[in-house]
Amino acid sequence: MEQTRKTKVLYIEDDPASRMLVERALRFAGYDVLIAERGLEGIDLARREHPDLILTDINLPDLSGREVTTVLRNETSFANTPIVALTAQTQNEQRDMAMVAGVSGYLTKPIDIEALPGQIEHYLHGARDNNLDTTSLAAARTRYMRELVGRLEGRIRELETFNESLLHLDKMKDIFIQLTAHELRTPLTLVYGYSRLLQDNPQVKFLIQENADTLALMQGMNDAIVRMQKIINEILTMSRIITNQIDLAIGMMDLGRIAQQVVNQFQQALTERHLHLVFDPSEWPQRMQADWELMQLALTNLLSNAIKYTPDGGTITLRASADENRVRLSIKDTGIGIAPEAQVTIFERFQTTHNVQLHSTSKTAYRGGGIGLGLAICKGIIEAHGGRIWVESPGLDEQRLPGSEFIIEMPLVAQSRAAL
Ligand code: ADP
Repeated sequence: MEQTRKTKVLYIEDDPASRMLVERALRFAGYDVLIAERGLEGIDLARREHPDLILTDINLPDLSGREVTTVLRNETSFANTPIVALTAQTQNEQRDMAMVAGVSGYLTKPIDIEALPGQIEHYLHGARDNNLDTTSLAAARTRYMRELVGRLEGRIRELETFNESLLHLDKMKDIFIQLTAHELRTPLTLVYGYSRLLQDNPQVKFLIQENADTLALMQGMNDAIVRMQKIINEILTMSRIITNQIDLAIGMMDLGRIAQQVVNQFQQALTERHLHLVFDPSEWPQRMQADWELMQLALTNLLSNAIKYTPDGGTITLRASADENRVRLSIKDTGIGIAPEAQVTIFERFQTTHNVQLHSTSKTAYRGGGIGLGLAICKGIIEAHGGRIWVESPGLDEQRLPGSEFIIEMPLVAQSRAAL
């Protein structure tokens, strides 16, 4: 059996007592009642639910009931929907402005609960209060326009002040991060130095010879310190990139030699992990203008990731090709791959796609993930040189290992800072 649809009334009201009273009365009279506490919420609900009638208080915390009416009236789907304003009995001016804003009529507060369902039916049947003469209408229109412009100005000023304080807070945050990272770096360097001294101490050396556990403990401590140093350096580099403090020390460099140095850093890991490396430094441009330290950092991050996400026995291919203007670099692996939806987000700050602890096949140095800054740093560095970086991968699959290819395209001759 087909059910007749209940008439839907949207009631926009911020006062809880009125809300409860009207909602109860309307439900009792058989209406389906939707409630919104704020103007914008009311507009959203109206667009979603298409009520048969909208009842709105005038004084709402964000948009006024009049403004809600003007917004909805200008949409074709609400051109003929009865919109009824609730105003206090004494507020003649308010009522006139509500008519100008486009309401079908108004009900006065305090609400007469007994009469309410009848009044709602009246408007549902198409009634319109139309009791303004031309002079009052013109006066109300001018008042409403002034009110709108005044409120708009007020809101823009509020937003500007708010925006300024947000920018200030954001700057404070950057300074705080930078200072903290700096402050942490100094004692950490000391800890690192002391741990080296301790290792070289004859008594400790003797202990290490006597007891293999001591060596493992010392190595564990050193690895942890190195990892902390890496994180702190990443935070510092990242905050320089974000705050535009990245001054490129552009010079002529041999990219093949830089790539070779990066490869050398990972030689031990490559051997331990039985990873096959395809790399011919002579393919790489020998003359290129760039900041060699930053390029080394970007390549280090990419090769480290390729090693981290490729199970033992896989292949990593480093390739470069150049014409007279541009160079194209590729760091390709046969690892777990990257899901299509993550291929853009991984270049954002603090984005890691999965728990790398689970996927790393390495037993020691490459175990565990970073904090998701590596690729954001690479992107910052490459873009600062006027280049771009992206990834291509058929998808993430830890069994089939589809692999990933990170590609960099950048100018061989550095562009001037102003042109970047
Ligand atoms: P982290 O420093 O934490 O490794 P990155 O910014 O370098 O962060 O990488 C972000 C995420 O991108 C990683 O958590 C990983 O999920 C994914 N990723 C990066 N490189 C590879 C790769 N070669 N293969 C598969 N996934 C990768």
